[in-house]
Amino acid sequence: MGSIEDVNAALADEGKMVMAQVAPAVRVTIGEEFGLPAGTIVTKKLVGALRQAGFEKVFDTSVAADIVTIEEGTEFLNRLEDQEDLPLLTSCCPASVFFVENTFPKFLHHFCTVKSPQQGMGSLIKTYYARRMKIDAKKNFVVAVMPCIVKKMEARRPEMEFDGVHNVDAVLTTKEAAALLKSKKADLNGANETGFDSLLGKASGAGQLFGQTGGVSEALLRFVAWKLEGKKARVLFKEVRGKKGFREAEVKIGSRMLKVAVIDGLNNLRDLMSSEEKFHSYDVVEIMTCPGGCIGGGGQPESTPEKLEARKKALHNVDAMETVRVASENPEVKELYGSYLIEPGSKVARSILHVSRICLKCD
Ligand code: SF4
Repeated sequence: MGSIEDVNAALADEGKMVMAQVAPAVRVTIGEEFGLPAGTIVTKKLVGALRQAGFEKVFDTSVAADIVTIEEGTEFLNRLEDQEDLPLLTSCCPASVFFVENTFPKFLHHFCTVKSPQQGMGSLIKTYYARRMKIDAKKNFVVAVMPCIVKKMEARRPEMEFDGVHNVDAVLTTKEAAALLKSKKADLNGANETGFDSLLGKASGAGQLFGQTGGVSEALLRFVAWKLEGKKARVLFKEVRGKKGFREAEVKIGSRMLKVAVIDGLNNLRDLMSSEEKFHSYDVVEIMTCPGGCIGGGGQPESTPEKLEARKKALHNVDAMETVRVASENPEVKELYGSYLIEPGSKVARSILHVSRICLKCD
């Protein structure tokens, strides 16, 4: 959905308010398109360059990742309590959703019902942000800067809208966004360093970990640990980090032992789903299609094992530098719940952030 031409047309249209949202992985990859070493953290330079290119507002998709973590974590705790629909399949990677829909539709109900951070952020910009700022949501044009082409297909799905308005109007891959910036002479190296726009601009460290495989699980485990153990809960869950395309971890939280599988690649997911007994032995399964997760996505600069390692390390450093590292502790997110969503799984949250994951072909 969308191309550089569509974005240029929107930027030239005075009737549109063009806003960008930036995926977690992009902050440690787009620098390579401007000659910087793999893993250079360019978050603030990128925001400055996007403003220079004409975007009126720039938001951080990682804030939506924090909200996804809270919604997903709450859904997981409910399923754990009821011992229903376990394992919970995380739902941030649209390629894995397409794969399960087509190859293993009987497992569709295992997916969390929360939209991906990309779609969640689009939805929040056009509802929460538009209402708070008294902007006509129909004039908003939301451009998502994303690590992959599949995100364009995700944005076209019919359920990814609210009140007849698409959550996201155009998706640019990292490489396309770099090309757009270059065409506008907005060189990342010379850009002013600025922060994301407020209300949807300050993410926790956990939300920014979504850019690599294992990050969604670590964010989820941090949330669950804080829910069950309070502020004394640990923050780091290095058990879910690593290089292998299939890794598993057993994590004790409160009185529960949780079994988590973290998967890179659809072949590994196929192997797991081919054995129902093994599949059902987990509580959580995180699936990312690309090697290393979104840092290795098809819309990213060329990936090598060394570059993937450097990007992954950079995202861990981004997380370590944040003072807030648990999604539910994020002040912006607390404000959003207090003034709009009210609580996880509320009527408002379900109407703008959740979708149905039912297999229509199954009995
Ligand atoms: S893992 Fe790959 S396919 Fe999935 S969302 Fe990330 S970049 Fe896209």
